[in-house]
Amino acid sequence: MELKSERSSAVDAVVEEILSRAHTVGRKELEAWRKPQREVRELARLDYVRVIRRTLDYHSLCATIDEIKEIWPELNRKQFRPKPVDYLAAISSDLRIHLQANPYRGPEGMALRGFYVDKAPKVLKRPLIYLNTAHDPAAVSATFMHEMSHHVTAKVTGRADNGVHYLFNAAHHDHLAQPAELVADAIVSLAGYPQPLARRIFATQWDWGLVARADRLPDQAFAQIRSHVRTLGGFDFTASLPPGQSFNYLTGMIHYAKLRWALLVEYDL
Ligand SMILES: [Zn+2]
Repeated sequence: MELKSERSSAVDAVVEEILSRAHTVGRKELEAWRKPQREVRELARLDYVRVIRRTLDYHSLCATIDEIKEIWPELNRKQFRPKPVDYLAAISSDLRIHLQANPYRGPEGMALRGFYVDKAPKVLKRPLIYLNTAHDPAAVSATFMHEMSHHVTAKVTGRADNGVHYLFNAAHHDHLAQPAELVADAIVSLAGYPQPLARRIFATQWDWGLVARADRLPDQAFAQIRSHVRTLGGFDFTASLPPGQSFNYLTGMIHYAKLRWALLVEYDL
């Protein structure tokens, strides 16, 4: 098994250590995670075109897209579908990245989606991606793509930042002010909404007019997005999920959809 050969006690120790720090590092995110309604409301209102004009480094995004197509040649052309962990492990192994995929539960475990860390800790000879598999498989695949984008961006820009990039469930709002995070989220949104689909959903009769904007999702677009996510992830925001978690996934859905909308109207991506 791919995963077993990747395991090492040194890597296990690093993962444990980083996880134990998540509660302190992510105090603000955990706070937000406990009150998910606020983030949903804010993100639903925000104009993402203004957000990407302010925060997104377009050249860094283009370079990351070019490079990541070595891994996923069909990015933004065909629908990316959730993949089993074995498949993600094989990709990581090819790229000489340690992958750790385990459930991290506990009272606040679900607040954490995963993290990426460059070679910083001395025991790590290779970069490391951790995925919290307590999440829905579609969310796990999206997390993998987000973390892989960090890896690729560091490679193409030559800027290794030697830090731990945590991905918290309630951090979408914070990402809007963080260039590296927004590039990683943009890649996930291109995978989730390839261009033909993005055009169908976002370029319809309620066209954006003269001024590019991506603020409130019209009901019709929202319904299409929800149905798309249901088909893709197999989940709907129903009673089977705890309410807090439903809100978290709903926030993610709105964030990635609006980011995708903004990328289309601003850069024609
Ligand atoms: Zn990140």
